[in-house]
Amino acid sequence: METKFIADNNVGKLARWLRMMGYDTLSFEDRDDSKLIEIALNEGRVILTRDTQIVKRRLVASGRLKTILVEEDSPEAQLRQVAEALNLNGHFRPFSLCLECNQLLVPRSKADVRDLVPPYVFQTQNQYTECPTCHRIYWRGTHWQAMARHLEELMEADDESC
Ligand SMILES: [Zn+2]
Repeated sequence: METKFIADNNVGKLARWLRMMGYDTLSFEDRDDSKLIEIALNEGRVILTRDTQIVKRRLVASGRLKTILVEEDSPEAQLRQVAEALNLNGHFRPFSLCLECNQLLVPRSKADVRDLVPPYVFQTQNQYTECPTCHRIYWRGTHWQAMARHLEELMEADDESC
């Protein structure tokens, strides 16, 4: 089964990075820790948090709920910490999820997006996807490529340390 996450509101950037890698990552915006724990338990999600209080909770302390206490400050280092803890290397599908909504993106034809993307994008890009919830259109432009390269580097750096 694929690893799924629920990210506490103190690790929002990390949540976006995990979505970028294709990991189903729910953002938890509430302040009620018991709700966070309930969702994690019901949906089989790994908790990501910087809150040491959560780690002391009975379900977490007993090991019934997998939790990663994020110690690093930069999102890159946080991502590396998570990848190391769960051995995520190599098993990801970058850019399959909406970075904002955590929804699976749907392929769109070039004709579909003609009026939805800037003309220079339309002229140069052939592959598009759309978020069914917020209707953002994604394409593999220079930003996409830079992020993909960055992710690869992060994961490779991880391999070398093993
Ligand atoms: Zn979306």
